[in-house]
Amino acid sequence: MEHEHHDHSMHEGAGGHIDPVCGMTVEEGPDAITMDYNGTKYYFCGPGCRRAFEKDPEKYLKEGPSMHM
Ligand SMILES: [Zn+2]
Repeated sequence: MEHEHHDHSMHEGAGGHIDPVCGMTVEEGPDAITMDYNGTKYYFCGPGCRRAFEKDPEKYLKEGPSMHM
């Protein structure tokens, strides 16, 4: 570890929520796209991800977010 650097871009947990579909960090707020499932509130980056989760929630909760570019 020769070079120390501070990366602020991948800071999980502090105020942000992980989109279970794509793994993006979603900020809490009035415009946030959310869905309640099994008593837990999930946050999504967009309506497309919300719809995908709605279709097959168990798949995303089991496998976790998959990064597809
Ligand atoms: Zn997403």
